[in-house]
Parts: sequence; structure tokens; C-alpha cells
Amino acid sequence: MSGVNIQQLSIRFGSNEVIKGLDLQVHEGEFLVLLGPSGCGKSTLLHAIAGLIDVSGGRIEIGGQDMTEAEPSARGIGMVFQSYALYPTMSVERNLSFGPRVSGVPKDEIARRVQRAAQMLHLEPLLDRKPAQLSGGQRQRVAIGRAIVREAGVFLFDEPLSNLDAKLRAELRRELKLLHRQLGNTMIYVTHDQVEAMTLASRIVVMKAGVIQQIGTPTEVYERPANLFVAGFLGAPS
Ligand code: ADP
Ligand code: MG
Repeated sequence: MSGVNIQQLSIRFGSNEVIKGLDLQVHEGEFLVLLGPSGCGKSTLLHAIAGLIDVSGGRIEIGGQDMTEAEPSARGIGMVFQSYALYPTMSVERNLSFGPRVSGVPKDEIARRVQRAAQMLHLEPLLDRKPAQLSGGQRQRVAIGRAIVREAGVFLFDEPLSNLDAKLRAELRRELKLLHRQLGNTMIYVTHDQVEAMTLASRIVVMKAGVIQQIGTPTEVYERPANLFVAGFLGAPS
């Protein structure tokens, strides 16, 4: 388990500064939701934490260690993105076990982890199927399962439910809450959906144009918005 400490993070694409001197402390074991309109820099921030893009300035610590320049695989994170990015030719079982197989985890240990993740996510009857034989919700469960099997201390979610219908979204929201209670790891969850933020978050970070507008519990942010932008954004229908 580990927290994430971001100091004075700046990310530029050419002359466009997308993240602007951002400070953020993600506590170990919390469910932090990043909420903000499309284009405000949520995905960019996650990609920087994951090590998928270079930062222009600042520092990223994960589990108390400076990871600003570290390879993605060394950061102890699991990523779950909107498009499921499963390996289409591999079974669910192979998709789940791929990460630890590559990093040389012993076979019986991998089997134990896959079994546990499959049980948590109701994937046991589906282990022999290929991704094409799964529904959208089942595919997203496999993507979550991969992060569990890697035993990541920090999970990064980038709008993981946005391709699913309302009923499935509600169901997966409940499962994610339960999962977080069972695993107790750090979750950083990006969404532009206010309902998701209110129901999942221990704390919400509201962003606008690469700048944090407010950090607080769902109740704090909803009842005492820091400014008109936060008030308007939380009040707007999703
Ligand atoms: P969000 O996830 O909040 O919708 P993004 O982080 O995807 O926002 O994008 C923030 C801004 O950065 C947008 O203006 C987007 O066009 C720009 N951006 C994102 N990725 C790149 C990139 N690889 N190259 C250039 N501009 C980018
Ligand atoms: Mg995005």
C-alpha cells in the first residue's frame, strides 16, 4: 500500500501548459476522485503518475519514493482505462496472469492471485473465454482484475465506466466500493460524472484547466463549494 505525493507538477505540450504547478497529496488507502470537465487535464495527470508521459517540472512520489523519472513498471501501480485494452487472442485467465508471468512471479502464486481476483469480480465462470465473448461490463472487470493480480498499491482509473449503460455503471460502482473495502489500497479515480464522484469518493478533487479548485469530502464540496465554478459544475446534470 502506498500514498502518492505530487509537488509543483507541471506538464506542457508545446506551449500549452496543461497541468500548472499542481500540488496534491493522495493518502494511503483513500479513494480519491478527480472530477472536472473534459479537457481540464485529468487524463494527463493520471498518465504522469503512471509514468506514461514526461513531466515538465515538479516531483511525483509513490510510497514515499521519488518516482518522477521511474519506468511505469517500477511504480507499483495498476491502470484501468476506458477502453479495456485486453489482449484479444488471450483467454481471460491469460489476460489476468500476463503481468505477473512477465515479471517472473512463481506459477502457483499466480494461480492463487488469479483465483482470488476472479472470485472478487465474479469472473470464475469466464476464465476460458476470449475478450470478444464478454460483455462490456465483464471486460471492464477483467481490466480491474489485472490490477488486482499485479498487487498494485495504487490503482489509477480513467473514466472506467463511461462506455457502460446506466444500470451496469451503478452495479460496478457498488462493486468498486466493495473492492476498495476488501483491498484497502489507494485509488485515484478520474471521472466527469458527478454521481460517480459523490458515491465513490472519500475525497473529491475538482479541477479546471489544470488547476485544482477545491479538495474535500463529497459533503464538503457539495455543501460548501469553494467558488462559482465548483458550485456550477456539481450542480450541472451529468
Ligand atoms: P481530460 O482527461 O480532463 O479530458 P486531458 O488530460 O485528456 O483532459 O487533456 C488536457 C489537455 O491537454 C487538452 O487540451 C488536450 O488537448 C491536451 N493534450 C492531452 N494529451 C496531449 C498530447 N499528447 N499532446 C498534445 N496535447 C495533449
Ligand atoms: Mg480524459
